[in-house]
Amino acid sequence: MKIETQCLHEGYSPKNGEPRVMPIVQSTTYVYESTDDVAAVFDDPTKGLIYSRFANPTTDVVEKKIAALEGGAAAMCTSSGQAASLLSILNICEAGDSFIASASIYGGTINLFGYTLKKMGIECIFVDHDATEEQLNAAFKDNTKAVFGETLANPALTVLDIELWAKVAHAHGVPLIIDNTFATPILCKPIEWGADIVVHSTSKYMDGHALQVGGVIVDSGKFDWTNGKFPSMTEPDESYHGLVYTEKYPAAPYITKARMQLMRDFGCYPAANSSFLLNLGLETLAVRMKQYCENALKVAEYIKSTGKAEFVTYPALEGSAGHELAKKYLPNGTSGVISFSIKGGRPAAVKFMDSLKLASNEVHVADIRTCVLHPASATHRQLSDEQLVAAGIDGGLIRLSVGLENVEDIIADLKQGFAAV
Ligand SMILES: *Cc1c(COP(=O)(O)O)cnc(C)c1O
Repeated sequence: MKIETQCLHEGYSPKNGEPRVMPIVQSTTYVYESTDDVAAVFDDPTKGLIYSRFANPTTDVVEKKIAALEGGAAAMCTSSGQAASLLSILNICEAGDSFIASASIYGGTINLFGYTLKKMGIECIFVDHDATEEQLNAAFKDNTKAVFGETLANPALTVLDIELWAKVAHAHGVPLIIDNTFATPILCKPIEWGADIVVHSTSKYMDGHALQVGGVIVDSGKFDWTNGKFPSMTEPDESYHGLVYTEKYPAAPYITKARMQLMRDFGCYPAANSSFLLNLGLETLAVRMKQYCENALKVAEYIKSTGKAEFVTYPALEGSAGHELAKKYLPNGTSGVISFSIKGGRPAAVKFMDSLKLASNEVHVADIRTCVLHPASATHRQLSDEQLVAAGIDGGLIRLSVGLENVEDIIADLKQGFAAV
């Protein structure tokens, strides 16, 4: 199936007399005929349902769909994108380990990696998103267990050289984890470029309608965990009657461990209702992504033409930062998100944003409706000046998330915003 078809049909194909639409299974638990039957699913939880803290039939459909869209072996949904990023690291790193991350990533992820994980004894080594192969190699330590980056970073919109990062990670025997939230599998499939694990905040384009907060982790099933660096994958899990993930679940040991161990213990699993809503968003993801890209390119061209921006970052736009890498990794467009720095810095940014009528000022992005955000006052407020620079953010920077309204209406709104400054 082509990706547009997958969006509609993967994960759920009703049989004779079954509902056309994927049902919401609103139940915490599942009934068995005998104690032996219950024991059997505890022996192998992939063989049946136990409890909705870590698996649910509605969410299962969405997991299968997203795994298929990304070209992965299996996926696990989480209650937020933050939970997905957290579990993606905790599944392979423990106190005393380190991992490498691009410094140009989502502000919430920088806090999680740089502060919260540090308190748990896991060190994050930040490197520039455009580090050379030598610089990347130099960042590794003996205890480095993973590498993390964003395809199209929120909000700086830097494009990661995924193939290079995968090559370096693999040379050191560790997996590459890619946050593919902004690109979505419609615009880029990181696994095809060598990524081993893909995470998403499904709250963004996948949901698309600002209806539910969620996340997902996809396991490519391709990484070799048996190279001696990952005993938690290859040695008996004492908390699960001594099973060895790589032996018992060779197709997707990483995601099976994440579910059976971490989701069991943390329980940050989405509600069935949220998964139902996410699925509605996924059904139209391919059509929406095309239109976001078409609208945003026109808007980016317009902003550039006004001469009122210090720079416009929209990698699909000729002359924008990241354009060369975008041609390789995002040939069909670079989403609906544009970032630009308005001339006049922070006061001009505030005046401009407060003057907009159609575009709403909100802490969200990748919505069906156009919205704007001032990263320095919102998502990146907790970052030091140094970290702001590393994340590519200045006082005049505006993140504009172009929606699916008629593009002429969007441009008219921006025009009166610029006039007000
Ligand atoms: C929003 C976002 C997250 C965090 O996701 P939540 O669903 O808000 O927890 C992580 N990564 C990226 C790139 C994001 O845009």
